[in-house]
Amino acid sequence: MYHRIDPASSSQAHVPPAYGVERGVTADVFERQIRFMLKHFEPRHLTRLFSEGSRVPGFTVTFDDGYADNLHLAAPILSRLKVPAGIFLNSEFVGTDRRFWWETLGSLIRETDATHIDADLVGEFNPSNGESDEALPLSSASEREYAHWTISQMLMHMHDSDISAALHKIAHALSVPPRFEDRDWPLLDWDQVRQLAASGFEVGAHGANHANLGLSNPSQARAEVLRSVSGIEGQLQDEVQTFAYPYGGEAHRSQAALDAVREAGCRWAFTTEPRAATLGDAPLTLPRVGLTGPGSLTCAYRIDRAYRSIRTPQAGK
Ligand SMILES: [Zn+2]
Repeated sequence: MYHRIDPASSSQAHVPPAYGVERGVTADVFERQIRFMLKHFEPRHLTRLFSEGSRVPGFTVTFDDGYADNLHLAAPILSRLKVPAGIFLNSEFVGTDRRFWWETLGSLIRETDATHIDADLVGEFNPSNGESDEALPLSSASEREYAHWTISQMLMHMHDSDISAALHKIAHALSVPPRFEDRDWPLLDWDQVRQLAASGFEVGAHGANHANLGLSNPSQARAEVLRSVSGIEGQLQDEVQTFAYPYGGEAHRSQAALDAVREAGCRWAFTTEPRAATLGDAPLTLPRVGLTGPGSLTCAYRIDRAYRSIRTPQAGK
């Protein structure tokens, strides 16, 4: 699972500084990761993940959220290496200048002159992450990165209307106007999505507005899922068969969301549970290994752990 692919070479600094999924991976690192996967795994189409005859584990590549760099930077690499891929779109963001909330938060943290932010103004810290309600310093680049991560962890578990209220509060505290549009990194428009589809990308849905389906009430969750699938189908004049739950954790989906994904006609849906998929997995909650953001060692560790998780007891030591 990827998000952004960045044009900068991995040795260059990012300008403006990007945080978390905003940063993505650089095109050269992305290509090295795909070449590594090709050495050890067999590339498969998103809708044909399990190949009965093969003893080599398969892999596929997915992108979430619909960044234009997926077309400009990732697609040529994948096409050259003959690796199929899928992309999961937020139908009501395609072709717009709207920011996702983590990008609005990113701009606030990038642009402020404040030296710290009180994270407790966002809400309660999750006690399980061991944090207290201390002020988060914003003096260095790494402190700003950590503040973005910490606040994102909190917002990721809040309802959309509360997220928007929290962003206004943070903006006020940091003395920076909140920017909900005017993106730093463009999203795909529908013509570009059609280009990707024509080049063989599997185009799936990711909710209309990236809402947290676990916190949405059943009718909201159903509307988010159905609107995103029908919106994409209307634009592509083709069936949508795949879905990825926004945020992808267990807390980020509900039975109503699963039912809606099925009702919308999707046959495969993906979470962000970081392990390898097996034939025993339910088709509407298939895991994915995220390779967005972290350094190469973390990626290697995640791939290794996913691979070990599928070695059967008979074959394994
Ligand atoms: Zn997403």
